[in-house]
Amino acid sequence: MEEKCLCEPSEILIFPCSGGSNVGQIANQAGVKLTQDGTGRFFCLAGIGGHVSGMIESTKAGKVIVAIDGCPVQCAKKTLEHAGFKIDEYVEITSMGIEKNHDLNPIAADVEKVTRYLSNQISKRRGLL
Ligand code: SF4
Repeated sequence: MEEKCLCEPSEILIFPCSGGSNVGQIANQAGVKLTQDGTGRFFCLAGIGGHVSGMIESTKAGKVIVAIDGCPVQCAKKTLEHAGFKIDEYVEITSMGIEKNHDLNPIAADVEKVTRYLSNQISKRRGLL
């Protein structure tokens, strides 16, 4: 049974890998969309990797950590775990059947697919579905 939370969108922190590939940019754009539609809040993965104290403290104050990785290298997941954070929701985009390439202008339908998946997962966690 999945753990439910009464969290507000501002307490749901989204960390896309934002990598230099189509799937990295899909992760980035999904993070933007999930923030703009009020599902959660885009957070700075680089601040975690850089051990920036304010970012670490703000992340500790969050209730749900969402990591979005473009490919199996799993940079977002590894960065967060290395800093001691537990990831609550996770997706690795190539596992959804989207092949990695070096086009930095990802296909809108791919962004939509990842956004919809995470939006559903987060809504279930919040008891909204
Ligand atoms: S997970 Fe893959 S796409 Fe994302 S930053 Fe790392 S290597 Fe790049």
